[in-house]
Amino acid sequence: MEQKLRREAKALLEQGQVDYIVGFEPGSLKFTTTPLITRDKEEVDRLVINPFIVNNLANFLTELKGRVGIIAKGCDSRSIVSLIQDNKVAREDVVILGIPCPGIIDLSKVEELIGKDRDELEAISREGDKVVITADGKTSEFSITEVLFDNCLGCELPTPQEYDILLGEPTLPVTDRSASQAKIEQLKGMPPQPRWEFWSNELSRCIRCYACRNVCPACFCQRCFVEETEPQWLMPVPRWQDNLMFQVIRNIHVAGRCTDCGECERACPVNIPLRSLTKEMYDIVGELFHFKAGMDKDTAPLMTHYEQEEAEDFIR
Ligand code: SF4
Ligand code: SF4
Ligand code: SF4
Repeated sequence: MEQKLRREAKALLEQGQVDYIVGFEPGSLKFTTTPLITRDKEEVDRLVINPFIVNNLANFLTELKGRVGIIAKGCDSRSIVSLIQDNKVAREDVVILGIPCPGIIDLSKVEELIGKDRDELEAISREGDKVVITADGKTSEFSITEVLFDNCLGCELPTPQEYDILLGEPTLPVTDRSASQAKIEQLKGMPPQPRWEFWSNELSRCIRCYACRNVCPACFCQRCFVEETEPQWLMPVPRWQDNLMFQVIRNIHVAGRCTDCGECERACPVNIPLRSLTKEMYDIVGELFHFKAGMDKDTAPLMTHYEQEEAEDFIR
């Protein structure tokens, strides 16, 4: 898949079909990748596909001017389609190099299982439904369900819905999504008071760095409500009450655009379980409106049109 990607990316640049290629290259730390944005056909040999290509690159599309060849996993392709639906990106300006995605490894889960920091690990490799980890010259095997990110454990559409070039054979969706919902179900099972205390404690740790907003392809407003001063929706000091307001309003803004890519939770430097909010909103949108983000570039985005049969249940 990696060789095919490099060939296709080089051809797209050589033939002038795109101005940029956006993909992944090895990161400076072990078991990481970092986005590569290049116009240079020689640099495409740095492109990689591995179980650590974590970022949702769709976020770059609203920044780059010109035609872009972009590497997209299943969830990323839906973010791209969602941006097309919102007229933030023109379909003809994007060449989607689709990756049927077997899931991304969550290094914090690996560290917990092995009891070592990621720097102390020698190798991590994926072999079918197993992940093989080498540390201190010894290998250990784990099921992928123990080490993938929670959103990948519940992935409905790992193969891109929209693409120009598919780089491998389509991958089947996960059938048992219970592991991905465990944290959310636990929270939903709590009585209101402890659940309120849980979120006030979690959000009191928020430093309002806005990483969750900045990595999110669905958060594309040029001027975010948090920066408004007339009216001032939030106090700049990260009090937990204002942090809660920030997350509540952000979740409403991304409703119908969130593809459960998991980037906001992953980017949070203080590990607030943000997916428990975004995935719940994703499910509510599905239940109330029978809508999933980024499925069809030719349909109107959620809440930009009115369906008569929606109104009763929603308004009541
Ligand atoms: S959510 Fe699906 S498509 Fe996205 S990274 Fe995880 S497994 Fe891949
Ligand atoms: S990434 Fe985490 S700490 Fe930063 S603003 Fe978002 S919730 Fe707060
Ligand atoms: S809200 Fe989070 S999970 Fe949803 S699209 Fe944005 S970054 Fe991805």
